[in-house]
Amino acid sequence: MPELPEVETVRRGLAPVMEGNTIAKALVNRPDLRWPFPERMAERLTGARVERLRRRSKYILGDLDSGETLLIHLGMTGRMLVSGDALGRFVHDHPAPEKHDHVVLDLADGARITFNDPRRFGAMDLMPTATAEQHPLLAALGPEPLGNAFSESHLVAALSGRTMPIKSALLDQKIVAGLGNIYVCEALYRCGIHPGRRVSRLSAKRIASLVPVIRQVLEEAIAAGGSSLRDFRQADGELGYFQHSFDVYGREGAPCRTPGCTETVHRIVQSGRSSFYCPSCQR
Ligand SMILES: [Zn+2]
Repeated sequence: MPELPEVETVRRGLAPVMEGNTIAKALVNRPDLRWPFPERMAERLTGARVERLRRRSKYILGDLDSGETLLIHLGMTGRMLVSGDALGRFVHDHPAPEKHDHVVLDLADGARITFNDPRRFGAMDLMPTATAEQHPLLAALGPEPLGNAFSESHLVAALSGRTMPIKSALLDQKIVAGLGNIYVCEALYRCGIHPGRRVSRLSAKRIASLVPVIRQVLEEAIAAGGSSLRDFRQADGELGYFQHSFDVYGREGAPCRTPGCTETVHRIVQSGRSSFYCPSCQR
């Protein structure tokens, strides 16, 4: 499932192709993904110029000159493919249509954006740009982890009086937006905090230590995505999926990477999701 860095990589891949470009033709091949598409979506997209492509949490938001904003959520298996890019940054030929190509946007300069999603947990919606932040998917979101509002004082205050495990707190989208399982596991490892540790039993100093580390793990992953973007000219134009090297995530039974530690990475299940951690380094 794409997390914030993958979504940001997709956004950065799409932005130079879409921003300033007009959607000459929109093809919508089915009535819904996770939810129904908005009414007359193809018609409302056709002829609209994409002014800006931004990201909020794991949502890509395309502000259109029609006064509407296109919301794109990749869900579990959603993929964005770029083809026919007039600037030659991506593959030149449009691929043959595939079974799960649900939305195809042909841009005025010949580029094509294809949204393919086999499991259809993704979503697209259109809303007035002026009230985009009030969209049901966006309204309750906490601050962006890479933005200024996500500060040490914010996190300490948001967790004050709470008793849940720190892992659950960091996955709570109202506390901080867009963090997922992988990067929470990595941040907790780097801070030496056990994922099951109750928030009420963590000092303000240890909670505050998470803020710069969360930014760091996300920024490193985005940088890795950026290096994968540079290889797309030879690749198939698919954006946003790249191999990370994780310290704990997915490494159950493998040796802990902390110098001098002889433990292995353990896995526990919290709220139905796997947490990976080192029982010696994380308390
Ligand atoms: Zn260790």
